[in-house]
Amino acid sequence: MSFNSTSSKSTIRLENILIIGNGGRENSLAWAIQKNELVKKVYLIPGNAGSERLKKCKRIQIDINSKKELVDKLNFLKIDLIVIGPEVPLANGLADFLRKKDFKVFGPGKDGARLEYSKSWAKEFMQDANIPTANFWKVSSLEEAKKVIDSSLIPLVVKADGLASGKGVFIPESKDECFKAVKLIFNGRFGNSGNIVVLEEKIQGPEVSVFALCDGKRYVLLPTAQDHKRLNERDKGPNTGGMGAYSPAPLLTKDYLDRIIEEIIEPTINELSKKNIDYKGVIYFGLMITNSGPKVIEYNCRFGDPECQTIMPLMDQNFVFLLEKCSMGNLTGHEKIDTSDKVSGCVIATSKGYPDEYKTGFPIKIGNIDSTDCQIFDSGTSLSKNGELLTDGGRVLSIVCQDQDFDMAFEKAYKNLKEINFDGIYFRNDIGHQVRTNFSETN
Ligand code: AMP
Repeated sequence: MSFNSTSSKSTIRLENILIIGNGGRENSLAWAIQKNELVKKVYLIPGNAGSERLKKCKRIQIDINSKKELVDKLNFLKIDLIVIGPEVPLANGLADFLRKKDFKVFGPGKDGARLEYSKSWAKEFMQDANIPTANFWKVSSLEEAKKVIDSSLIPLVVKADGLASGKGVFIPESKDECFKAVKLIFNGRFGNSGNIVVLEEKIQGPEVSVFALCDGKRYVLLPTAQDHKRLNERDKGPNTGGMGAYSPAPLLTKDYLDRIIEEIIEPTINELSKKNIDYKGVIYFGLMITNSGPKVIEYNCRFGDPECQTIMPLMDQNFVFLLEKCSMGNLTGHEKIDTSDKVSGCVIATSKGYPDEYKTGFPIKIGNIDSTDCQIFDSGTSLSKNGELLTDGGRVLSIVCQDQDFDMAFEKAYKNLKEINFDGIYFRNDIGHQVRTNFSETN
């Protein structure tokens, strides 16, 4: 990353960083942040069993909803910068609260997080700014939904309006299925998140993820990525939080990315300003590349998981300066991210049964890992009383490797996966199939 951070190094205090969250995303952020020599300590609330394997990192057990205790602790630790990983605390206004207490925070306030926690608001936002997205209908009753579904001449996608841990989107095959999905949502499957339903035109094309770090006025783009949401090989089966990813996405040529910047990214940043939303954090643009151009499928107000684990190893030690500049509204807009010339691939190892019910508490055995340009970020792990690493989530480990090309990166990731075992371990063998020239269905 080459930007003028040297002049500010002497004045910026970045000794103690706090990351809020407990997944692979937060561990990869911690790993990238600790690389900077100014950083002495990275605290994670609550982190997971993998956090303390990372250099300079320490977990803190404290309830982020116990506000006074939290502020006292952060003052005691002399926290210089706070990075909020997941969407729920952002949607609950944690960034606003901590800013009011004079902390530097990377993460949008409640107003900006609305891009993610209300799909109908996000659709209206895009409409206001003329940002390309699928046509939609916002409905708040079964009767209203029925009218739209019955009269629709196109296939529809059904979405619960609010946060639903990635489970609130249905892609029905028929009007009947469509109606059933709406009913499920209105019947309370997602609690208050399902008080409103968005019915959306079903569009087609490959999906890519673009991340913009914003300081309220300006932005810097991170390397692009593509992830695999479906559970099974050949991108079949139920949607998950993400089974793997790769970065950068070769699908996006420089010209096409310029088009995305012009049609989507800059209009989004401008519309946020127009609505007086001082967005200091990352905007995730989930895009579909359709025959009629790029369209926004969704916004997230945080780093995607596992895209974050995939992209972080491409960042150099100055990444933390970017986060700090965003938190202060100090981007120049000319920061160039000179990322590694390598590519990165990530495979997620999950518990048997995920994304539905699964058991946890199985010992994880890690054998002889080739650690050159390879990271294992814990996504869902805990430690037993005698210090043994145990499974403690649906997604358990993120295995991330970098190399000159995707064939080599994924070869290393899968070689390392052979050295990892726990009862019921599952992973897809075809992550990155679009970019692996040596991939065949029989692999
Ligand atoms: P979301 O949580 O909104 O990203 O949706 C989850 C997944 O559903 C996306 O990654 C897409 O694969 C699919 N999806 C969402 N909206 C649409 C749409 N309008 N048309 C087709 N597929 C969609």
